[in-house]
Amino acid sequence: RCLALIAQRDGAIGAFLHVDREDALKQAAEVDARRGRGEALGPLAGIPIAIKDVLCQTGQPTTCASRMLKSFVPPYDAHAVTKLKQAGAVLLGRANMDEFAMGSSCENSAYKVTRNPWNLDRTPGGSSGGSAAAVAGGMTPLSLGTDTGGSIRQPASFCGVVGMKPTYGRVSRYGLVAYASSLDQIGPFAPDVFGAAALLEAIEGHDPRDSTSVNRPAQGYTKTLEQPLAGLRVGVVREHFVEGLDADVAGATRQAIDVYKSLGATVVDISLPHSKYCIAAYYLIASCEASSNLARYDGVHYGHRAANFDGMIDMYAASRGEGFGEEVKRRIMLGTFALSSGYYEAYYLKALKVRRLIRQDFDKAFEQVDLIVSPVSPTPAFPLGSLTTDPLAMYLMDIYTISANLAGLPGISIPCGFSSDGLPIGLQLQAPPFEEERLLRAARMYE
Ligand code: GLN
Repeated sequence: RCLALIAQRDGAIGAFLHVDREDALKQAAEVDARRGRGEALGPLAGIPIAIKDVLCQTGQPTTCASRMLKSFVPPYDAHAVTKLKQAGAVLLGRANMDEFAMGSSCENSAYKVTRNPWNLDRTPGGSSGGSAAAVAGGMTPLSLGTDTGGSIRQPASFCGVVGMKPTYGRVSRYGLVAYASSLDQIGPFAPDVFGAAALLEAIEGHDPRDSTSVNRPAQGYTKTLEQPLAGLRVGVVREHFVEGLDADVAGATRQAIDVYKSLGATVVDISLPHSKYCIAAYYLIASCEASSNLARYDGVHYGHRAANFDGMIDMYAASRGEGFGEEVKRRIMLGTFALSSGYYEAYYLKALKVRRLIRQDFDKAFEQVDLIVSPVSPTPAFPLGSLTTDPLAMYLMDIYTISANLAGLPGISIPCGFSSDGLPIGLQLQAPPFEEERLLRAARMYE
């Protein structure tokens, strides 16, 4: 049924880069055969899922929406992909994204633009735009994305679905093509909170192949999901309701806060004084890490190699020049500059110090509140093409989401209303590290 819906709808939406019909049907048939033999089935048995094209899957193209990896077919599975296979899920296809997960609109893909199923002239958000649009377009019940600065939560909010970024370390990054390693996390997209909880449960867990993967007992989110939280203290951040926040988004957020009040929560006014430095710190740190991570694409070890060159250095330059898109090059140049001798202390080191202050703001805030409620994005889905010529304006779109990555916190986006022109608006909830259970239960209360 999903394959039929993809055939029918994805021509207009463009959520998928690659769908292997035969392979998907084979996986489904295997689940059926197991059922027929009376064998134990995994918790996601037979459930179709789309995978962001940045997660390695054996035998399937993994391009990161880049020309650089056009012909890369990994010989191994990402940890999250292995877990999905063990859970019995049916891996449907590879979802479009911004090249190497750099972007907020899915327009940086080297292959195609993904459109928002609610309005085809709008962006689905990014960088996991394909994953969000695939769920919103009803082409798959679940998908996986990654979130380095908001890439799960923002597309979820633009597409009216649930998207969650777990605590840094909760899900192994093994087999996730690295963008900014200290910020990247894999997480679920689903039509509802239960789906997100079930998918997170399936992919989390310790993995010795990622040294930042934590070893914590499973929390069993789906089991406690229906238990409402009593005495919830909800923080509303003073610095969040400022100029630049769309009136419909502000209104929907305020209404959602009232819903929590009516459910018995206490609303507390809090301050995150270093919020204004988030964008600057994030774009420095993310670009620095990206410039280092992307050094591996040299035309030798991986990916595209230019056909014409004059010697080794020219081979590197020509291969990288042809393989990478404009935004990726911008980040590599920015990161390389900020890491270079003489500038390292002024930019990279200072950004790291600011990152620590941002985390301390949250630690302090969470002494007073259990959760922080905020917008996900300052506006609903913007028109395609409207920000592509202004990278700085595009970066500013991440203002509400990037602090969770800098601080390593879990965050979720849940649908909370519509703009006057009928576009979905998301509500963000953030919790202290490793409090995913609290986050999901609070989200379910609202739902
Ligand atoms: N928009 C942000 C960026 O371009 C976040 C992307 C992401 O979370 N992968 O870096």
